[in-house]
Amino acid sequence: MAALRRAIPLKMWGGKGCGAPCDFCRVVVSESDIEYEIEAELDHQRLTLHFHPRCHDAWKAGLEPPREEAETVPSVKQAAGPG
Ligand SMILES: [Zn+2]
Repeated sequence: MAALRRAIPLKMWGGKGCGAPCDFCRVVVSESDIEYEIEAELDHQRLTLHFHPRCHDAWKAGLEPPREEAETVPSVKQAAGPG
């Protein structure tokens, strides 16, 4: 859901998972998990989003949702040691 990134969060609250799928990773937030519920505005329409806490963080950070099709991402090599 690419449009998700354009959604403007209005209200947010947390609670137990209610069985709704996470809007970020598409995995159902189980009842034993914390669910973040976000009231957001997208294209002048109100919608409610459900996230795992970590998915909410990722969404807020502007990260892309995980794709179902695995893409080959070039691995970033870190600079080796001081020097
Ligand atoms: Zn999630």
